[in-house]
Amino acid sequence: VSFGFEEVTPDEKVARVKGVFRSVASRYDVMNDLMSAGVHRLWKHDTIAKLNPQPGEKLLDVAGGTGDLAKAFIDRADRAGRRRRRDALASAVVCDINDAMLDAGRARPDMAAYEGRINWVCGDAQALPFEDRSVDAVTIAFGIRNVADRSAALSEFRRVLKTGGRLAVLEFSHMTVPMLQRMYDTYSFNVIPKLGELVASDRESYQYLVESIRKFPKQQVFREEVEAAGFSSVSVTSFSGGIAALHFGWAV
Ligand code: SAM
Repeated sequence: VSFGFEEVTPDEKVARVKGVFRSVASRYDVMNDLMSAGVHRLWKHDTIAKLNPQPGEKLLDVAGGTGDLAKAFIDRADRAGRRRRRDALASAVVCDINDAMLDAGRARPDMAAYEGRINWVCGDAQALPFEDRSVDAVTIAFGIRNVADRSAALSEFRRVLKTGGRLAVLEFSHMTVPMLQRMYDTYSFNVIPKLGELVASDRESYQYLVESIRKFPKQQVFREEVEAAGFSSVSVTSFSGGIAALHFGWAV
């Protein structure tokens, strides 16, 4: 399997990816905002809007890191609940292979309000520590690219989803306009590793980030992978000209 542009064994990839996120955990949120000029927040907002969370639902946010999507899911379900005067509370599990990321999430000041509604669980997307058909929605944002065996992870998402559950995969993707790809290449190959060096003192992890994005399959190819895992009515939404894409599917 590939780690950036290098070929490594699947176990080696798991170990190296762990190293990358252990080293970036403490500066993770600030780097996300810097690199995307805050735009990742809009992509995440649109992802949650598409999921349309409802009161009482349970989300599993895989590779959930510091918990952005879990928090947004609960907030939106609460707003839907107020409109409908129902009182069942939505909840979320943030599952990540790296406890340094989970610790950074738990320590966020804005997470105090979600005590008891968000659980933080250390686990691997390729072998999820959850029961069959136990959640209403699965999300994975900027995580599937790091998983060595994508089809194993997608099967796991299908396994833990209830019938009628939905899957949202948000990931960096490929530009839909070739001229933009050239500008984006210049930005990502030059600016991102430099930012990583300056802000997080870690050029290599951000170099990996750029290379792993380039290696990830294009929108239509990944859509077929999602369908092959048993998801129905899979749709693709490209954001910001294809810098990121949302793949959305149903477990029926
Ligand atoms: N979802 C969060 C967000 O959007 O801000 C975090 C994304 S971060 C770029 C990628 C996360 O994937 C890291 O927290 C990393 O530890 C996690 N990760 C990598 N490989 C994983 C795996 N096999 N299973 C679960 N999590 C994994």
